[in-house]
Amino acid sequence: MRKEEVKDAGSAREVESDTFKCPGCGNFLKYDPESGKMKCEYCGAEKPVPPVREPMELFYTSLSEQGFSGWGEVKCIQCPVCGAKTMLDKYQTVAVCPFCGAPNLVESDEIPGLKPNAVLPFRITEKTAHESLKKWMGKKFLAPSDLKKNAKTSKMSGVYIPSWTFDSNVFTRYDARLGKTYTVTVGTGKNRRTETRVRWYNVSGTVNSYFDDILVGASTKMSQKQINKIGGFDTKNSIQYEEEYLSGYSAERYAHGLDESWEVAKGIMTDNIRNQIRNLYPDADRVDYINVYPVFNETKFKYVLAPIWTSSYRYKGKDYGFVVNGRNGRTVGKAPLSPIKTFFFALFCAGVAALLIWMFYLLFLS
Ligand SMILES: [Zn+2]
Ligand SMILES: [Zn+2]
Repeated sequence: MRKEEVKDAGSAREVESDTFKCPGCGNFLKYDPESGKMKCEYCGAEKPVPPVREPMELFYTSLSEQGFSGWGEVKCIQCPVCGAKTMLDKYQTVAVCPFCGAPNLVESDEIPGLKPNAVLPFRITEKTAHESLKKWMGKKFLAPSDLKKNAKTSKMSGVYIPSWTFDSNVFTRYDARLGKTYTVTVGTGKNRRTETRVRWYNVSGTVNSYFDDILVGASTKMSQKQINKIGGFDTKNSIQYEEEYLSGYSAERYAHGLDESWEVAKGIMTDNIRNQIRNLYPDADRVDYINVYPVFNETKFKYVLAPIWTSSYRYKGKDYGFVVNGRNGRTVGKAPLSPIKTFFFALFCAGVAALLIWMFYLLFLS
């Protein structure tokens, strides 16, 4: 039995090269969301995954991005069409790009980057994802009625999407110029009138703020907006990353690095601190400026992988992409429009608008 040492950020674990081999038939084992174990698709044999551990948060310094050893046992594949960079464990191959379906993927010589230290394992199986997709099609109001029945779905890919989370203890000095409006009566006789004036004053002080798990997306394939549309991810429940969870799946390589993402997180925290300071002065109704000088202490980060099922379906010769949240089954995607339904819906909207205009006319103008 050959042993290979796999180094990761913070902890080292010995992974045997046959960890992913089926004890029954020698095929490769994949992580099975249903049983939470490694499972053989051919003979059904199962093997447990390593015990679940809390993910280790790592202290962030400006050297973090260079200082840690990367994923040793994975390869990076690049799509010539959409540019997606996907990580696979070294035993795996994929025929098509999980994001756009293009073939002819090339192995990239890019360094795989930091190894994830946290993962949200798949909870939804491909079968359940398929059912979610069908349900979603059924709810598409303006889609053709036979969409659910006649859409042909290609094989789905289970992909992990990268993101960073940051914790920080922030001590902030600030100074600000705030204002309170008041009214005065000026002039006499016919010229007597009230004027609004602002009494400006300066304040300064310090605030302490603690931030936990500020999330910064690192994917180019899923924007934060799209992630929100599928209900977001419960990153609080992430567990320590183990290679077993990647078996049978792929992971998008992060497109936004650690240092770049830390700058984004600092921006989110600073905006929040500014609001916190603003709320200390409920009397002020004007803000000239708030200068903040935050010092970020004990900053920790996690590199988290979150699961999605993605593919496309074909309807009347056209392909439509979709994504299913691998944790909760929420689905988003593109759908064809039924010309007849759309026509009648537009007619209905025009009718409602006409009715409103008419009522407005009757109530206010006649
Ligand atoms: Zn087997
Ligand atoms: Zn692609």
